[in-house]
Amino acid sequence: MIEWAVLGSGSSGNAYYISDGEHSILIDQGYSVVELNRRLGRVNRSVDHIDALFVTHFHPDHTRGVGVFSRRRAVPIHLSAHALAQNKRAVHSLGIPTDQITPIDHGEVIQVGEMSIFCFATSHDSPGSVGYFIDHPSERLLLMTDLGQTTAEQASLAKDASVLFLEANYDDHLLEVGPYPYPLKERIRSREGHLSNDQALEFLSHSGFDGKEVYFVHISDTNNDYELLENQAREIVSAPFVVCEKNCWYGMIGATL
Ligand SMILES: [Zn+2]
Ligand SMILES: [Zn+2]
Repeated sequence: MIEWAVLGSGSSGNAYYISDGEHSILIDQGYSVVELNRRLGRVNRSVDHIDALFVTHFHPDHTRGVGVFSRRRAVPIHLSAHALAQNKRAVHSLGIPTDQITPIDHGEVIQVGEMSIFCFATSHDSPGSVGYFIDHPSERLLLMTDLGQTTAEQASLAKDASVLFLEANYDDHLLEVGPYPYPLKERIRSREGHLSNDQALEFLSHSGFDGKEVYFVHISDTNNDYELLENQAREIVSAPFVVCEKNCWYGMIGATL
């Protein structure tokens, strides 16, 4: 069996928990360890159950708590080799014990228990940013967050996935009329920015995703609207889907809480 929980997503913090029942991983750690433990506690898990951490990229909402976590749990911290080379100062300032830093390259697979974790490139304004595909005998999970455009490789992974965690960061109009300064708006909608609702939904319909569940994640609370996204998605997505609000937790185990 495999279980998962979106512990939180969005610009104030991101963390995903995935477990095969015996071995557990986190993807991203954007919280203090106390907050992470509180969120894991809501799904009856704790930091002490985590066997490895995988990082998507070096923005603070994804890495804020990586250093403290790594000093609390002596487990591998997987970062893309390119990200490591390009973010030396940021890596150093996180204070991850050197012997725990474990590079992962695009196209590489790391095995944790029954989970094969495949790493692929994403287009984002953080060098070496990646996403992950988790292959397990019972499910195939795809996590795509913080990316300005999608690729053919990602579409083919989505076609294979049974559960998809997909960024739907902003609505074009709400971003346009919103309070952000113009350069930031341009950054968000650039090819190295974030996926809009339209881009996410178009990706879903064109990738041929035929899985059982979609989680829309990393939703902006300034430039998006949960209800608007829900209504748009209802028109297009045939699978059950969840619009993940920023301070809530979701997933196979989280859903019952
Ligand atoms: Zn982010
Ligand atoms: Zn980011």
